[in-house]
Amino acid sequence: MDTTTLIRVIAGLIFFAIILAIPLTAGILIGKDANARGMNGLGWGIGVFAVFIVFLPLYFVVRKPLLSQVPQYSAPSFPPVTPVIGYCTNCGSPLPVGSRFCSGCGTTTSKPPVT
Ligand SMILES: [Zn+2]
Repeated sequence: MDTTTLIRVIAGLIFFAIILAIPLTAGILIGKDANARGMNGLGWGIGVFAVFIVFLPLYFVVRKPLLSQVPQYSAPSFPPVTPVIGYCTNCGSPLPVGSRFCSGCGTTTSKPPVT
């Protein structure tokens, strides 16, 4: 088993643990709450846990795409305007925001962008 496979297995287990931890926590909390009220804590806890296990995957199946992923309008045909923070001291090419090197000559920008 190589390192990449091992990392994927571990990541999968962590993801699975998180998925399980949410209904488990909710089930335990509601179970304790039900016990404190003289109700069937074990039954309510298992019930909440079971419903979560059913509805959590169901949610990921039936949920709609994010609004930001749904195209609201047709994309503009022209390229987006890149804000320019300055010009290369060596060749005078405009330097867009976030550039560390001049795209024209490769000179390191005099003012590196703060991250
Ligand atoms: Zn340049």
